[in-house]
Amino acid sequence: MTATDNQLINSAWFTDSRQVTGSPTDSADGVFFAIKGEHHDGHEFISDLYQKGIRQFVVERSALSPERRNELANYPDATFIEVDSSLRMLQNLAADYRQQFQIPVIGITGSNGKTIVKEWLAQLLDGGEGTDTFVVAKSPKSYNSQLGVPLSVHELNHEHTLGIFEAGISTTQEMPALEAIIRPTIGIFTNIGTAHDEGFRTRKQKIAEKLRLFTHADTLIYSVDYADIDEEVNLLLKAVNPVMRLVTWSLTGKNATYQATLQGKQLQLTGNEITPIYLVLPFQDSASVENLLHCIVTMLTLRSWGADAIQPRLNRLRPVSMRLEQKEGINNCVLIDDSYNNDVAGLQLALRFLNQQSTRSRRAVILSDVLQSGQPEADLYEQVSGLVQSNQVEQFIGIGPVLSRNAHFFGTNSLFYQTTDEFLANFPVSTLRDSTVLIKGARPFSFERIVHRLERKVHGTVLEINLDALTHNLNYYREKVGSETKLMVMVKAFAYGSGSAEVAQLLQFHRVDYLAVAYADEGVSLRQNGVHLPIMVMNPAPETFAALLEYNLEPEIYSIRLLRAWAEGLGKSGHSALSPMPHAPRPLHLKVDTGMHRLGFLESELPDVAAYLNQRPDLRVSTVFSHLVGADEAKFNSFSHQQYDTFLRSTAYLESALGYRPTRHLLNSAGIVRFPEYKLDMVRLGIGLYGVEASGIDPLALQQVGTLRSVISQIKTVKAGESIGYSRKGVLEHDARIATIAIGYADGYDRRLGNGVGQIWVNGTRCPTVGNVCMDMTMIDVTEASATEGDDVLIFGDTLPIAELAQRIDTIPYEILTGVSERVKRVFFKN
Ligand SMILES: *Cc1c(COP(=O)(O)O)cnc(C)c1O
Repeated sequence: MTATDNQLINSAWFTDSRQVTGSPTDSADGVFFAIKGEHHDGHEFISDLYQKGIRQFVVERSALSPERRNELANYPDATFIEVDSSLRMLQNLAADYRQQFQIPVIGITGSNGKTIVKEWLAQLLDGGEGTDTFVVAKSPKSYNSQLGVPLSVHELNHEHTLGIFEAGISTTQEMPALEAIIRPTIGIFTNIGTAHDEGFRTRKQKIAEKLRLFTHADTLIYSVDYADIDEEVNLLLKAVNPVMRLVTWSLTGKNATYQATLQGKQLQLTGNEITPIYLVLPFQDSASVENLLHCIVTMLTLRSWGADAIQPRLNRLRPVSMRLEQKEGINNCVLIDDSYNNDVAGLQLALRFLNQQSTRSRRAVILSDVLQSGQPEADLYEQVSGLVQSNQVEQFIGIGPVLSRNAHFFGTNSLFYQTTDEFLANFPVSTLRDSTVLIKGARPFSFERIVHRLERKVHGTVLEINLDALTHNLNYYREKVGSETKLMVMVKAFAYGSGSAEVAQLLQFHRVDYLAVAYADEGVSLRQNGVHLPIMVMNPAPETFAALLEYNLEPEIYSIRLLRAWAEGLGKSGHSALSPMPHAPRPLHLKVDTGMHRLGFLESELPDVAAYLNQRPDLRVSTVFSHLVGADEAKFNSFSHQQYDTFLRSTAYLESALGYRPTRHLLNSAGIVRFPEYKLDMVRLGIGLYGVEASGIDPLALQQVGTLRSVISQIKTVKAGESIGYSRKGVLEHDARIATIAIGYADGYDRRLGNGVGQIWVNGTRCPTVGNVCMDMTMIDVTEASATEGDDVLIFGDTLPIAELAQRIDTIPYEILTGVSERVKRVFFKN
């Protein structure tokens, strides 16, 4: 190890420029690893990071073009370490860092349950008294990747007495790097799934690759009920690691260290080498039982604890929640409700999310005592206060005795309460307004009561938006088009019903190139919510030009009349004072009509357009685009080809007539999948982002984004022959239990879904509608379902696809999505 390496090892590590908030403490000894990945290139952010105070960079040789080398020469006081792979460098440093610790480290792999076993073990082992004390370091959430593992292991410090890290791999050759970084002394192999796995030839190969995590471990814990795992352990692992101790368990009477028998919640463990142990399990579903057995066997392996030590710890165990929800609050606030562990790593992740999704002018944090035993109290709260400050939090509220006695670390604009009750009784709620509020508490503080107090209450129908699924879908299309093609994302019509501001914030975080909306006011509202990406407005009426200029929105120009009006408007407004760069020409977007015959210039009009533009150097055609009329259906392929040809001719003409080359774009979501060869310089992603694969070619590629839920307001038993609802449409043929649901056509539940056409999912049973759909309510037949008043029901989601709903009433998914009215509350969540 060189002196430089040694210094790098102990610096703060950054791999994402967005983590660097610009606080002096962060930046002073920080090092940024510029990683060139599939979706973005860290080297693009070097100057940005330099401005934020970072002075050490690890950069990749292949990413250093002559221009970039010139750029780096502007920063003589920064150090650039050139390597072949920044990720590899980070991994090597993490492996060296790990060597400084002689504590037991648990490494977990397997197909399922890794994160739960890790979180539960941390709950079960952390804290305690005397020799039973553990101070646990662990990976946050499911940080188990090639990048997540080194960053997690780097969080180890000398107060920790135990590390718990998970490792996930998706192809061969990935595990050796993770093994060197985690270097587990104790291994847990949770299980192996039967699912087909792309990165591996066979199930056996998958097991063999995962077992590489344990090449140097002293002990391995697994269940012999997975015969394949048992076989590979004895065949392969034993050969490379013959002294390893195998600690096994079985629920099916197989030969193992621990024979487990379960009767209801009662667990009995017996075995040749142990005294029997009896425990009561807190959870009984089969997945939880398997995870619990791994945890219990691990505890027995680490310490010779008896049931008297283990049972109380089991009783305190809580389900693992990693969900973070964003919802509307009172006083024009937005609430971020984070139920994941309140430790420093969890807080860091939550503050990043607050930073990313902040749509209000102010930020506030309500935080309970932080669970962290690895650090002296004063150090811990100084660090917490630093995190809060560097994330520009204006208002801080601390709840709990420990936070209260460390109040001096926090600014004067902070308030402290000993308990949640004291907060609820005394906090002046009206002082919290126009803010994005992060609410994060350790479980004993019951912060759900605070969320309940601050949440804006509306009727029981909600549209849940899964932000992880949005990200997944975005990445799917990014991968399809590659890094050379830009991405414009359509957030018109309230982001296809999903909520414009929040979706746009996420897209901004993921650095898409452009957004597009239909009307000026949609663009204005995005700007007012802190979105600064370039925005194209597709239907800009002349009355809105002043707003376009004021908010730096870019018009789609589709006719000579509109072009003249825009040019004249610019002249009048003296726009140079308003424009961010006074002398820069104003960007506009030309729409060419290649066959849709909606908006746009016909090919024959282009000479006039070019002639006009050539007299107005203050206007610049930023992009030229057209739209396919039938990208989602193969039967229109030849027409699509024809449109492409017309479009290419048009753009070639414009390029030569204007003397520069505007960005060209043609494809929508279905087009990206069906005609990848037409991707040109940019594509326009719409419905695919929201989880509907409109081309039908790759139906399993996307994740469902929206789930529309409502509640049962009332249930009654009605006799055969009676009718249900308006106009006596729903006449019952049999005695029935009829439930009234709090959703109607005014919420977007289409009236055509009435009278049995639509179905609503109630606790696993699909229930038909009965009678006409009303404005605010719908009746369904729940005779076959197990249903009680107050139950949640599902209108669309995983078990009832939007596409099916659309088909039932002979429309398209677009109409279902955008039809969910704005009075339905949106809740955004991520894991
Ligand atoms: C809405 C829209 C799109 C996106 O279409 P999807 O089918 O939702 O992907 C693309 N281009 C234009 C001009 C649009 O209006």
